[in-house]
Amino acid sequence: MKRVFSGARPTGKLHLGNYLGAVLNYVKLQQEYECVYCIVDLHALTTLSDTKELQNNINEMALDMLAAGIDPNRSMLFVQSHVPEVTELHLLLSMVTPLSWLLRVPTFKEKAKRQPENVNYGLVGYPVLMTADIILYKAEVVPVGEDQLPHLELAREIVRRFNSLLGPTFLEPTAKLTSFPMVLGLDGKDKMSKSLNNYLEISASPKEITARIKTAVTDPARVYRKDIGHPKVCNIYRFHEYFNPTQVAEIAQKCTTAEIGCVECKVMVAGEIAKTLEPFRQKRAELADKPGYVKEVLEDGARRARAIARETLREAKEHMGLV
Ligand code: SF4
Repeated sequence: MKRVFSGARPTGKLHLGNYLGAVLNYVKLQQEYECVYCIVDLHALTTLSDTKELQNNINEMALDMLAAGIDPNRSMLFVQSHVPEVTELHLLLSMVTPLSWLLRVPTFKEKAKRQPENVNYGLVGYPVLMTADIILYKAEVVPVGEDQLPHLELAREIVRRFNSLLGPTFLEPTAKLTSFPMVLGLDGKDKMSKSLNNYLEISASPKEITARIKTAVTDPARVYRKDIGHPKVCNIYRFHEYFNPTQVAEIAQKCTTAEIGCVECKVMVAGEIAKTLEPFRQKRAELADKPGYVKEVLEDGARRARAIARETLREAKEHMGLV
């Protein structure tokens, strides 16, 4: 089986965007690949000013991933900093990576603009750490969306440079182009995200789901109950398409003739979302009830990942004349 690597920033409990856009794909990949899933806490430090919630976020996220179907017997699930070899490899790779390659990365420029008071060294070195993440575990495949292809290409360039300067050492990872559905947030305009507070957590109770969905923006042209709606511009309708496929045609018809109001329509979709996520919620509650379970899984994942990491790091050091 080929090995896949993917990293996720510890943003705490997963929201619907994370779930539909990434985690379901993670679960599917387990059938075809040996999967290495890493919660990248070190990457998070490049933009975090407050780390008080970091451990809790890691724990909640791991719990959600396990409840969603990441199988710790098949895949390695662990925390980036629990395999310290990654920081050493990052340093070694930084010696062969021209600074000009990093300074021209668009995401670096964007982040530097967003946090001008904290343009730290880690921010510019982010792609080097990302490269270390992938090659440390000898991953051959990285699932990426079209927009992330340039990041992977940079990782491949760093690998090629290392290999050409110091001799063939690392595998050049290849992209598995994956369509990650972009889930709009409850504001109906931006991608669902915690920072924009337009999210719906997948572990929310049915009552919480309904309350959250009720705050969602719908068709802006539908001001009064008697106004007809336009499902194609309504995010609630998109949720119906995904979670309520058997009734979606009827919803469209009733919306465009004002037979149904937005509140009723939202309550319906909230019920369908809650029903779809019920098995996940049950599994989450079961796992949360096992004391120390998440910690054990993460420790075991790190132990297995470290065995590969030590080997890779030894090879890299040998090629660099450090052994
Ligand atoms: S009735 Fe439903 S689909 Fe139509 S605008 Fe309102 S929430 Fe959207």
